[in-house]
Amino acid sequence: LTEAIKSSGGVPQKADSLVLIGPPGSGKGTQAARLAARCGFDHINTGAILRQEIAAGSSLGQRVEPYVRAGELIPTELLSGVMAARLRSASHAFLLDGYPRNLAQASALDQTLEELRQTIAGVIALELDDQTAAQRLEGRLVCAAEGHTYHRSLCPPSAEGVCDIDGSQLVARQDDRDLGALRSRLELFRAQTVPVIERYCESGLLMRVEATGSPERVAERLEYTLGASLSRNQPRARISRGSDRGKPGARAQSGTRRWAA
Ligand code: AMP
Repeated sequence: LTEAIKSSGGVPQKADSLVLIGPPGSGKGTQAARLAARCGFDHINTGAILRQEIAAGSSLGQRVEPYVRAGELIPTELLSGVMAARLRSASHAFLLDGYPRNLAQASALDQTLEELRQTIAGVIALELDDQTAAQRLEGRLVCAAEGHTYHRSLCPPSAEGVCDIDGSQLVARQDDRDLGALRSRLELFRAQTVPVIERYCESGLLMRVEATGSPERVAERLEYTLGASLSRNQPRARISRGSDRGKPGARAQSGTRRWAA
């Protein structure tokens, strides 16, 4: 996949943009960062954007903090403007990580893409059972500087409490420490985000990837699935909207696919 992108000029184009969806603990952030670095996507991580706003004490940060602490979804009206602005500023293909998480956000994303006359190439759904997800979240540690992720037992840092990459302190995220918030995030995913996955499945954009095992193993599966799907040489998919919504396998003609595994 990366070779194919390199040989086609190195930077994926806007219509190659992807959405990555997965329950908390599925390794979504890790996989998104890795794929973005390997393939040159502009990585847009909603949770990280919100945490930055909170850390900066901005007015948006102050409004969203209680929701993030409780593991609840930020109201769509608070988020859609921020996301639209961020999408507008993307100069090449983006990899959306953590958005959309409900049907209202999926519609807001459709609208923004329509305004930008942009399409997405596909939606990757990471799949993981609740028990493994909870186990991963309970032991998760992130570095204070850049959010690099570790796990107390499954993926410990070389020196306890210190990030291998930038030497900053490792901490457990507030919403991972709180068992109630953790359960509520998993329930929210089932109730609100699974319908988004079903919607993308109906529009023929969905690629499912099993998220068990090591980050390396998941990354291999993800790149294989992505490469296989994108190299079928079908016309490039676009986000479902209007007349084709709900038709299984609906795809639009928008040029020749450049990617191959
Ligand atoms: P994450 O880092 O993806 O686990 O997100 C952390 C928290 O940020 C979530 O528990 C929500 O409170 C908030 N958040 C992130 N993405 C969204 C979204 N698309 N919609 C609403 N809230 C979000």
